[in-house]
Parts: sequence; C-alpha cells; structure tokens
Amino acid sequence: KSGFIGIIGRPNVGKSTLMNHLVGQKIAITSPVAQTTRNRLRGILTTPEAQFIFVDTPGIHKPHHQLGKVLVKNAIGAISTVDILLLMVDGSVEAGGGDRFITEILLQTKTPVILGLNKIDLRSSLSRSRDVEVIDRSYQELADNLKWPIARFSATTGEGLPDLLTLLRDRL
Ligand code: GDP
Ligand code: MG
Repeated sequence: KSGFIGIIGRPNVGKSTLMNHLVGQKIAITSPVAQTTRNRLRGILTTPEAQFIFVDTPGIHKPHHQLGKVLVKNAIGAISTVDILLLMVDGSVEAGGGDRFITEILLQTKTPVILGLNKIDLRSSLSRSRDVEVIDRSYQELADNLKWPIARFSATTGEGLPDLLTLLRDRL
C-alpha cells in the first residue's frame, strides 16, 4: 500500500512538527511564527505495511492580504491531489473559527478526512479534566456530522502516532 497524505490545518497546529517526527528528518521548517511553510514539502515514511508520502502545506486561514490568498490557494490545491487528508487541529484548545473555516472548505472534496487532535501532551497541564471534555466535544461536533474518524496524538512526544498510522494505512 502506498499513498499521499495531505497535512492541512490552520497555522501553528504542528503540521511541520508532525511531518518531521514521522519522516525523521528536518525537512519541513517549523517555527512558532505562523506561515513559515510557504511551499508544499514532501516526506516519505516507509513501514513494513505501507508507504506514506506526506505533503506538508502552509496553514489555511481566512486570508487578510494577498500573500495569504496565495497560501490558501496552494493549500486548497494540495487537497485535490492526495489520497487522504489529515486535518490537524490544536487539541489543547477548543475548536475555533479557523478550524470551522477549513471544515467548510473540505465540504467541497470527496477525499477521505481524518481529524487529528495534536498537542495532547499539553493536556496534563490543563487545570480541570472538564476542560479536556469541553475541548474534545468542540472537535467531536466538527467531525461527527462528516463522519470523520478522530486521532489524538502529540507530534512532539510521538504519543498516539502508531494509532494514527494505523488509521491512515486502513484508508489507503
Ligand atoms: P505548523 O504551522 O502547523 O506547521 O506548526 P509547526 O509544526 O511549525 O509548530 C508550531 C509550534 O507548535 C512550534 O513551536 C512547535 O514546537 C509546537 N508544537 C507542534 N506540535 C506540538 C505538540 O504535539 N506538542 C507541543 N507541546 N507543541 C507542539
Ligand atoms: Mg508548517
């Protein structure tokens, strides 16, 4: 099995960090500054069961200026050329307008989508377990209507990534 996985999501959710972790090379540029990734970058992960070709994209957000429009156009271009879309979100905070904006864009595609909740390592510092429930519910609402499976992981620690790969492999 082999296929292309498009990693999309608003800026700073950890798309490039995930790609670096999975592919094991610093090929995508990560930065706390939004929009460091201006072009699509590819990384290949070969396991005994499948070959995953990850396509990192610039963050999608509502464009406020011309460069922003180009970045969004590139990201939408990537959507139409992959086998699976991994919509990454920041699982340490509730779903926001940026995530809903991308969800609306994805209604235009027939490509299968997996919703990836990243940064779960930060959840242990949330004061109350109720906060985690509120966060989870906000993303559940996005995913349920569209029947997207949800994966929870940390691109930094690697927690949850084996399960993510299994989900991806089963859809190739
Ligand atoms: P991108 O814009 O979506 O490509 O985001 P980046 O990969 O550049 O990451 C943005 C910031 O989030 C960086 O400071 C990363 O170190 C941080 N980050 C990414 N993934 C994780 C994670 O799983 N846990 C934590 N704590 N930080 C993360
Ligand atoms: Mg990036």
